Amino acid sequence: ITVENAYARLEADGLVASRVGSGTYVLPVLPITVSPSSGDDSAWPVWQQGPLARSKRSLQDSLFRHLADGHGVTDPVYFSGGIGDPCLFPVREFGRVMQRVIRRDGMEGLSYGEPNGYLPLRRTISQVMTSLGICINPENILVTTGSQQALSLVVQALLRSDDMVIVEEPTYNGALDLFEALHIRPIGVPVDEQGMCVEQLEPLLQTYHPKLIYTIPNFQNPTGACLSSSRRRALVALALRYNVPILEDDFVGDLRYDGCTQPALKSLDPCGTVIYVSTFSKMLMPDLRVGFLAADGPIYETLVNLKCLNDLATSNLTQRALNSFLSVGSYQAHLRKTIRIYKKRREAMVTAVDRYLNGCVAYSVPQGGLFLWLRLVGQVDGGALLRQAVDAGVGFAPGAGFFIDKSAGEQFLRLNFAYQTEASIDKGISRLAEALARLD
Ligand code: PMP
Repeated sequence: ITVENAYARLEADGLVASRVGSGTYVLPVLPITVSPSSGDDSAWPVWQQGPLARSKRSLQDSLFRHLADGHGVTDPVYFSGGIGDPCLFPVREFGRVMQRVIRRDGMEGLSYGEPNGYLPLRRTISQVMTSLGICINPENILVTTGSQQALSLVVQALLRSDDMVIVEEPTYNGALDLFEALHIRPIGVPVDEQGMCVEQLEPLLQTYHPKLIYTIPNFQNPTGACLSSSRRRALVALALRYNVPILEDDFVGDLRYDGCTQPALKSLDPCGTVIYVSTFSKMLMPDLRVGFLAADGPIYETLVNLKCLNDLATSNLTQRALNSFLSVGSYQAHLRKTIRIYKKRREAMVTAVDRYLNGCVAYSVPQGGLFLWLRLVGQVDGGALLRQAVDAGVGFAPGAGFFIDKSAGEQFLRLNFAYQTEASIDKGISRLAEALARLD
């Protein structure tokens, strides 16, 4: 056995090759390839670039981490990211479910699944959506690899380069990056406490003839605003009148801390004008990479085809495990716990902002979600503030990344209150106040 193991190791290391019925032969040693030294790009081969090759993405969180690491900060406070607290991820429960699914489904669970998603999971999602007032059949649900893929598929299905898309301004930076990569031109509609200012939409529909309206009605990223029910109705009515599809991104809809649940746009739409997108990244764990969309009519098949071209199917094993997790009610229990904790953290952040930043910032308290959106009062250079904040050991997402016109975001910061404990929130906000004071 020892000798066999040694041969197997040599073979795995590429030093020998075995031929059945012949023997084991030493392989010629290949020259070791040396990468061009960093910074010297001229040594790499030069190829032509595809249309998306120059696209970029906002790296706000990793940028802060990188800066903080370089600054030797020992206990940095991260308000910059877009996820919930990893300490609350139901790691053990999910691990148990995963093992049970592997035992139960064996090879079947590890093969490619249906391109539109594991049917029992689609059924479960359909039941959950029906309980939220959105009646959608499992046949109209497409499971995607995160909701980012769902956004990308819808955009690829409906838009061509140079088309116009209506977005809230500010909006999710990942959507702006996607539009930019595909040469789609966003037109911003301002956001106030009640979400998108739908009253300002009609002239834009008449002037620009956009091909899509992208909106985040619940606890919008980055502002945290929730679209009022009258605006929801007005938005769907306008979309129907002008025949413009709506892409409804409900990325944290389940994380409501107070106020009444508002109807999903999809539930107000009798004609298939709304494509609804959601994800398990924020309520459960981002690395499940499971999101979904719900679409009616022929566009559904187009989306399934595109999905297949993109990645064949979302991980079958993860979908099966997620379905078991959802079906045994663990999700609801997890959600209740998460809501209780995040609500307290939101309050801790509001208290700390009132205590340390009183008079320096303006904000509205979000009814749910992950973010507090601050407007700096007076002229402040957002870039300079970020540098000071990094020195002080606190990170935030600078507002510029969420605006079409980056300069319009200079006065804004997005803070994630869900990611940190209440004590860290207090520490982080006091550091932010120090950083602001140093700018004066
Ligand atoms: N929509 C919004 C508004 C987001 O903030 C994000 C990620 N932060 C996504 C979609 C994509 O998330 P995921 O792919 O993890 O579902």
